[in-house]
Amino acid sequence: MTDFRNFINGRWETSGKTFEKRNPVDNSLVGMVHEADAAQVDAAVRAAKEALQGPWARLKVQERVDMLHAIVDGIQRRFDDFLQAEINDTGKPYSLASHVDIPRGAANFKVFADLIRNVPTESFEMDTPDGGRAINYGVRVPRGVIGVVCPWNLPLLLMTWKVGPALACGNTVVVKPSEETPATATLLGEVMNEVGVPHGVYNLVHGFGPDSAGQFLTEHPLVDGITFTGETGTGEVIMRAAAKGVRPVSFELGGKNPGIVFADADFDKAVAGIARSAFENSGQVCLGTERVYVQRPIFDKFVVALKAKAESFKMGRPFDEGMNFGPLVSHVHRKKVLSYYEKAHAEGATVVTGGGVPDLPAPLNEGAWVQPTIWTGLPETASVVREEIFGPCCHITPFDTEEEVIQLGNATKYGLAATVWTQDLGVAHRVSSALNVGICWVNSWFLRDLRTSFGGAQQSGIGREGGVHSLEFYTELRNVCIKL
Ligand code: NAD
Repeated sequence: MTDFRNFINGRWETSGKTFEKRNPVDNSLVGMVHEADAAQVDAAVRAAKEALQGPWARLKVQERVDMLHAIVDGIQRRFDDFLQAEINDTGKPYSLASHVDIPRGAANFKVFADLIRNVPTESFEMDTPDGGRAINYGVRVPRGVIGVVCPWNLPLLLMTWKVGPALACGNTVVVKPSEETPATATLLGEVMNEVGVPHGVYNLVHGFGPDSAGQFLTEHPLVDGITFTGETGTGEVIMRAAAKGVRPVSFELGGKNPGIVFADADFDKAVAGIARSAFENSGQVCLGTERVYVQRPIFDKFVVALKAKAESFKMGRPFDEGMNFGPLVSHVHRKKVLSYYEKAHAEGATVVTGGGVPDLPAPLNEGAWVQPTIWTGLPETASVVREEIFGPCCHITPFDTEEEVIQLGNATKYGLAATVWTQDLGVAHRVSSALNVGICWVNSWFLRDLRTSFGGAQQSGIGREGGVHSLEFYTELRNVCIKL
């Protein structure tokens, strides 16, 4: 059994209060998590503040870049530990964690290390009123202490997506991972010490949101900026906390993403792509598709093919051969997802497949499993078509015209992502430009080039991260004007 402690100023700290972390595969106990109290969060933030004046601040850019590369090497050296930790926390398939979560967790440091070494700053020469000249140039300085609050669905990947650029830009961080997934953030603390990152640069506090580490961190007046990934409702609470002291936020929030399949699409690729986007990571991907719109001529055939895909997933233990479908992260989350399965039934959906809990042998029957589920036949007003479920499920609706499907796709308060399947370049361009989202994939899904912008429109987020866009949040851009 593991003991997940807080990492404050380079030291491991227990607390007087612990809570259990259970493995969602079979509900076995993974370890005990030490919940940071207000004094420990305060100590972590102060350590981060102090580190801004220490050896970390005096590193040359190349030295900071080298340190980020050392972190990458440190994660890679302990790849199997990270893999096991992520799998114990989430129950996700080995194939997924080993190909996506852990490699991306390392890549997030590498990409921003390379970026910071190469990024130019702006410069403008100007005429002055006295007939002379002046030159303006931009200097990017670290924002300061960054509070990083993370969700549980892609724990290492989403946390390092923020810690990577924050450190690359010279900031210090206090990370609050999800209470559901304490492990890989803890391992990262070990790596920080192993590779010699100065104390106080990376701090970690465990706990929950309200009246716990999340609230203490986001309300702390010495935190200079808050980057948060999670539910839109939580974002509203954190935004109120950030208003005190007018601190900037970067938010990656919820979604109810449309997947749109035109009749001319490559049928097999579209079915495979929509199946991935609806069911990968058991539907617990913010970019996932929960609303599918299929053009009428291929609607019936598509429903049958997607049903076959959904029924072909193999559940089991994450390291079992061929296992490609895991449990939900927790029983709490399962309760929420199953409540939507019941609502769909009550609202009159046709259940194409799934709709309940799979019949699994002991001890897996103790885990947080649900069946991949497909519905048809509901109006757009139905709750499973409107609200984010964050489970392995989708509703499929037929459509006739391009204009109609754009209107259907946009009929949501969210605006994170979309996936569009067609062979007509004109349609692809028109539809992806008209959808009110931060990212639109055409004939693909979750293809990520980390240099591109990432974020959500409407209630799916505030700001963009990724590539140079991350600099907008993780640095202050200062203009220097020199009269020549
Ligand atoms: P959540 O909002 O419940 O929790 C996220 C984090 O916020 C956790 O660490 C939690 O402890 C903390 N928290 C909760 N209440 C808080 C408060 N009052 N003050 C400070 N911190 C608080 O989200 P979740 O259930 O962990 O994750 C699922 C959600 O995340 C979904 O809505 C999903 O769409 C979203 N998500 C978005 C993206 C994106 O890039 N847009 C990526 C992944 C997940």
